[in-house]
Amino acid sequence: MTDRKPHFETLAVHGGAFRADPVTGSVAVPIHQTTSYQFQDTAHAERLFALQELGHIYTRVTNPTVEVLEQRLAVLEGGAAAVAVASGQAASFYSVLNLAQVGDNIVTSTDLYGGTWNLFANTLKQIGIEARFVDPADPENFRRATDERTRAYYAETLPNPKLNVFPIREVADIGLELGVPLIVDNTAAPLTVRPFDHGAAVTIYSATKYIGGHGTTIGGVLIDGGTFPWEAHAARFPLLTQPDPSYHGAIWTEAAKPLGPIAYALRARVTLLRDIGAALSPQSAFQLIQGLETLPLRIRQHNANAGIVANYLKTHAKVTSVIFPGLQEGEARRRADTYLKGGYGGLVGFELAGGAEAGRRFIDALKLFYHVANIGDARSLAIHPATTTHSQLSPEDQLATGVTPGYVRLSVGIEHPDDIVADLEQALAEA
Ligand SMILES: *Cc1c(COP(=O)(O)O)cnc(C)c1O
Repeated sequence: MTDRKPHFETLAVHGGAFRADPVTGSVAVPIHQTTSYQFQDTAHAERLFALQELGHIYTRVTNPTVEVLEQRLAVLEGGAAAVAVASGQAASFYSVLNLAQVGDNIVTSTDLYGGTWNLFANTLKQIGIEARFVDPADPENFRRATDERTRAYYAETLPNPKLNVFPIREVADIGLELGVPLIVDNTAAPLTVRPFDHGAAVTIYSATKYIGGHGTTIGGVLIDGGTFPWEAHAARFPLLTQPDPSYHGAIWTEAAKPLGPIAYALRARVTLLRDIGAALSPQSAFQLIQGLETLPLRIRQHNANAGIVANYLKTHAKVTSVIFPGLQEGEARRRADTYLKGGYGGLVGFELAGGAEAGRRFIDALKLFYHVANIGDARSLAIHPATTTHSQLSPEDQLATGVTPGYVRLSVGIEHPDDIVADLEQALAEA
């Protein structure tokens, strides 16, 4: 077992240090429903607070149940360390705030989850961090928008609704040249893509989606790839390379050295979780660990089913176009084939010839599919963005984001594909 790497299926069940509870032998991960931890003595407490020894102090910062999830996700991603947080939104916020302060900027892809768009365009602006939005069709747009105050690049692997795969390697390479780390939100494609394999510095997730997988729990995670050379570009990253007045002048790139290449994760935990406190609860971590155990199996089924659904829709008379990475052409398809392994993801978009009214009729006729604003559940989900998630946008802005009146988005579940297609067929008959 020593020099061979276990596969995803094995790591999802066993990854990380946890084997069994050292006190009871419990094999299932215990839910450590505690806020705080008894110190052995005053010297022990002193060492923990000084970060001379790592250990649990308070659940806002670390918790043994949460730690099992963090270690398992770090191992699955091929990263150095992970920090779990209360939601995907907290993960994207912390991922930027860990590097940027007032007067700084990030360069971000325009193809973003709506919540992330609002966070970047409005809330970051409110605290003096500028988000520069660029079209990822040309990776060089990232270089052109970069200046000496640029602290990160940001993108989603497989963004809705266009499902155009982001050019991770191309933009990561520009960043490595200029000293800017690429943060990738890989929520829509866990295991199908590992952003660290393509040069990303940080990967974040909404664990709410595929990782939890059962629509029970909100959570997020930041994963530090451990490879970005912060010190080589020290002037760009004062938050990591200059003394931190909030922690007796600690320099995070130095403080992390005995622990591994985890300066980014360490700072996120001991300053952002300490100060802002979007901690994941132990109960939620337990739920997410249960989901994670079957992630590789579910992803395989999601990907296979989505391929079947896309091919079915492609031939349907009421469907004018199908948006699916495996059916794209040209550069978009090249990127899909370069980055997506073992399938093209579980999301499928399509346009109904009958426009918005057909979209409504289709959604209202679904019996198996749930009509929800979510993705990544075991169950199949559908939504009509023009009347829901994108309804606040003007028709022109809807079109700019890729949402036409007849556009429907499916998150294809893990049910039997024949049953999924049968539900689509009867609903399309009503559309
Ligand atoms: C859902 C989602 C988020 C936000 O995650 P929450 O867990 O809902 O806070 C961020 N990015 C993407 C791509 C998402 O799908």
